[in-house]
Amino acid sequence: MIACINPKAQYLSYQAEIDHAVARVFQEGRYILGKEVQLFEEEFACYVGVKHAIGVGSGTEALHMALVACGVGKGDEVITVSHTAVATVAAIVLSGAVPVLVDIEPSTYNMDPHQLKTSITPKTKAIIVVHLYGHPADMTPIIQIAHEHGIKVIEDCAQAHGARYEGKRVGAWGDMACFSFYPTKNLGAIGDGGAVVTNNEHLADQCRLLREYGWSKERVSQMAGWNSRLDELQAAILRVKLRYLDRDNQLRQQLAACYNQSLVHTGLVLPLEKSNCKHVYHLYVVRSQKRDELKEALSTQGVQTMIHYSVPVHLQPAYKGCVRVAHELKETKRIVSDILSLPLYPQLSLIDVKEVAETIGKITARGSR
Ligand SMILES: *Cc1c(COP(=O)(O)O)cnc(C)c1O
Repeated sequence: MIACINPKAQYLSYQAEIDHAVARVFQEGRYILGKEVQLFEEEFACYVGVKHAIGVGSGTEALHMALVACGVGKGDEVITVSHTAVATVAAIVLSGAVPVLVDIEPSTYNMDPHQLKTSITPKTKAIIVVHLYGHPADMTPIIQIAHEHGIKVIEDCAQAHGARYEGKRVGAWGDMACFSFYPTKNLGAIGDGGAVVTNNEHLADQCRLLREYGWSKERVSQMAGWNSRLDELQAAILRVKLRYLDRDNQLRQQLAACYNQSLVHTGLVLPLEKSNCKHVYHLYVVRSQKRDELKEALSTQGVQTMIHYSVPVHLQPAYKGCVRVAHELKETKRIVSDILSLPLYPQLSLIDVKEVAETIGKITARGSR
């Protein structure tokens, strides 16, 4: 079987270093917010190109915390997309604000800046821009619109560690940015983890308080926070993997290029990389009008595929009642029946990619006869 994702393969390829890092934490004896978290925060901030990184419990927590740090709460609106991981919208609901969901551009599956502009109301306090699948959203118009209206921009970089827009890494564009280190992400822990990054010292300080009961140095709560700390063990593991992030992203790009070449005559819609962007292929998503048949046929031939995402957030039972949909979301609805994520992770072999492509070639040739 060719798996769609395989986080264990990544562990095995850095096993000696990861095992060593984990043993170091065990021996060190400081298991919460110790040296590893502090060093990881410094190294990760440097990697992204920002001043501050705050390690937290997950990507969802990072988004929730960033919203609260920006002063978002009850009575506010936050604009994002419906075609995203449910966590993006869940974080807005957790903050007490109303999610306002807009449509995506058909080329990159990211937020349509025009729809953003026409969805702003006096209640809009922030925008969460998702860099979906590893391709950056169109930040220049989005930031300009936000500035015109005095709205905070929070980037959801959970699928785009290392991606670049106009040469600058995602995470360095907004007022704040949030990362997830879920095991299958481009930078993944061996468990849960996340980070908030920012150049704004005040916002960074707010997050440091929020992640630990709002505690000051004297352990007196200065604000109502909660508990969402990056685990010391996970920080040690992430420090190893961060050193290989660019290399792993390059491997993803090579595999994606191989798919692009091999699938060109299959009639599938292939992912696009805009000329001012560097795509990091968290997922390799194609579109097919016969998606379900293709998925089934691939499964029969031993190729695992996935759908990201099969139901837009505004149609999911938990969120149907509590989000506002500003427009018709035509593209969002259109793509859910077409999209398919093919196997892709750094340790996947070129041979396997060619085999997947060949299998798809045979299936689509059969289908068109
Ligand atoms: C994975 C993901 C998240 C949530 O991260 P967790 O660490 O699982 O909480 C948020 N947004 C997007 C776009 C994601 O892909």
